[in-house]
Amino acid sequence: MAIVSVVTLRCDPSGDLSGDPGLECTSNVRPDGAPFVGRSHGRLRRFSPDARFDAVFRQLHEGFGPQDWWPAETPFEVIVGAVLTQNTAWRNVEQALSNLRAQGRLTPARILTASCESPGELEEALRPSGYFRAKAKKLVAVSQWYLGAGGLDALMERPLEPLRTEILGVYGIGPETADSILCYAAGRRTAVIDTYTRRIFARHELTDGDAPYEELRQYAMERLEPSQAVYEEFHALCVRTGYGNCKPKPRCVDCPATTPSSLARTEGHVQG
Ligand code: SF4
Repeated sequence: MAIVSVVTLRCDPSGDLSGDPGLECTSNVRPDGAPFVGRSHGRLRRFSPDARFDAVFRQLHEGFGPQDWWPAETPFEVIVGAVLTQNTAWRNVEQALSNLRAQGRLTPARILTASCESPGELEEALRPSGYFRAKAKKLVAVSQWYLGAGGLDALMERPLEPLRTEILGVYGIGPETADSILCYAAGRRTAVIDTYTRRIFARHELTDGDAPYEELRQYAMERLEPSQAVYEEFHALCVRTGYGNCKPKPRCVDCPATTPSSLARTEGHVQG
């Protein structure tokens, strides 16, 4: 069973946020002016020494261009977004994040204060993301954990696998959320596996579509180049491809990774 550090001070009665690690801004800016937390990728030449794996992601990268992910102004905002995106579309997360930003609550200390002083307002801000009461509890749990663990410095420096196990012990944090937090907020090399990743792997006959999460994560990590930019771009490309092309009915015809065999395998689905 994971041992999880928990801060005992749930509220911040002094209002002093000078030591709040959630305030640390480490975002970059995309060409269109939108902020993101992650590496400034530019063009990546190779994703993997495995030719079949590399071909899929290199083609997606060349076709879609650098994705510059994760969209956020601070690492803690990445954590909030990773929780809120569970079971909902990103546009709904953006609305909830905008509400939290307008309330000045995008830091762990302020989320904990809100949960004590005005829990209804916190839930209302999260309403657009769905399951808002459960997500409020999850944000409180992850905020407590984040402060208790030592904030961003600890996430960036502690050994990866024990840290990952610890995050998985926090209420409401599953493997995809944990890996998103570690990869994008903390800059750690762990592969994020989501529905889109699973679909792309299976449709290109890289893995079994029903394989367990951990098996797919290990598969990807054994193949991805040991570069933080590669890990960040890998998941960002899966999301970009899944939203636009690799849907339940794939649009292979205008997907950068299309091949005669992927077209043939998806014959009968929407192609245009
Ligand atoms: S849409 Fe087609 S070509 Fe693109 S990743 Fe999915 S299966 Fe491959």
